Amino acid sequence: MASSKDYYKILGVERGASEEDIKKAYRKLAHQHHPDKKGGDAEQFKAINEAYQVLSNREKRSQYDRFGRVNEGGQGGSGGANPFGGFGFDMNFDPSMFEGMGGDTGEIFDAFFEGLGIKRRRRTYERGEDLELSLGITLEEAFSGTVKDINVSHFVACKDCKGAGHDPKEGTTQCAACAGQGEIRETRRGFFGNSIYIKACAACAGTGSIPNKVCAKCSGVGRLKEKETVSVTVMAGIESEQIVKIAKAGNCGARGAEAGDLYLHVTVAPHKTFERKGSDLIMKKEVPLIDIMTNRKLDVTSIGGDSYSFDLPPDIAVSEPIRIPSAGMPRLGSRARGNLYIELVIRKPKKLTAEAKRLLEELRGELE
Ligand SMILES: [Zn+2]
Ligand SMILES: [Zn+2]
Repeated sequence: MASSKDYYKILGVERGASEEDIKKAYRKLAHQHHPDKKGGDAEQFKAINEAYQVLSNREKRSQYDRFGRVNEGGQGGSGGANPFGGFGFDMNFDPSMFEGMGGDTGEIFDAFFEGLGIKRRRRTYERGEDLELSLGITLEEAFSGTVKDINVSHFVACKDCKGAGHDPKEGTTQCAACAGQGEIRETRRGFFGNSIYIKACAACAGTGSIPNKVCAKCSGVGRLKEKETVSVTVMAGIESEQIVKIAKAGNCGARGAEAGDLYLHVTVAPHKTFERKGSDLIMKKEVPLIDIMTNRKLDVTSIGGDSYSFDLPPDIAVSEPIRIPSAGMPRLGSRARGNLYIELVIRKPKKLTAEAKRLLEELRGELE
């Protein structure tokens, strides 16, 4: 009951405005003030809905024009065969009115299934958005696996209303735009008969109802942005460009809808000693020429911190890397490990003393 409200003023139209103009004005304002929108206002949105509910209905409008109010006694009482009866919408309701308002896309349902009377579940608010972040780790962390704390700025359910967006005690009002159906349908004539297009009602985001008292904390959206720390377990053997999914750590959906997921794009930083090729590691090892010639001991430490010490074989082919089995990276989800390949880089002395030169010449004679 709203006797003092000026519905024309609320919609910003003249008293003699056409149905088309009223529809247009409503669409524009509903778009602007939708509580789920930035700068949206639930109270204003409700008022706009109420005004449209009356002014879009010929009977109610003339009643309002004459008496300045509408007798609301028994909402939907004039229902009968027309499911939209009494709510200000007729069967010719134009669903394109709401195009571009929500993130929903139209869905096609075959008239055949509709004909079978298969009832569809009422749509609820759309699931929250997935989020993507990047996560940088070291090769050592990729080797052993790690747990990382990630700072995420994401929407979480409003604690005041537990995500409902409104005070449950105050209840809700049926959405005028969809007559409480939560969806808007349109029959289109096509090549193979009629198809029924069903879209989630953008005005109520598919819920069929508009809250009476909006939660002050979240302005009715049911979610608020917050910074949180999320612990992520990174499996041993992970490689760059791999993605770790943390279920439900994305944005919480509006009004208690399911949260999206968080995707972490992993980057393993380049290592100063090891180059990675899949699960194998390659290490360049500088060795003095004389060590190679004298089959000296070679000491290397693997990425896992294991020490390996071995004699350089007398028949070593310097161009071939030395392979240490299973000293490489773990294979993701398995106990197997790749190999470590050591590529020898010969280090020649920069400057030779006269004595050294003389000895080398002597050595040449000896070797030949
Ligand atoms: Zn809230
Ligand atoms: Zn609706």
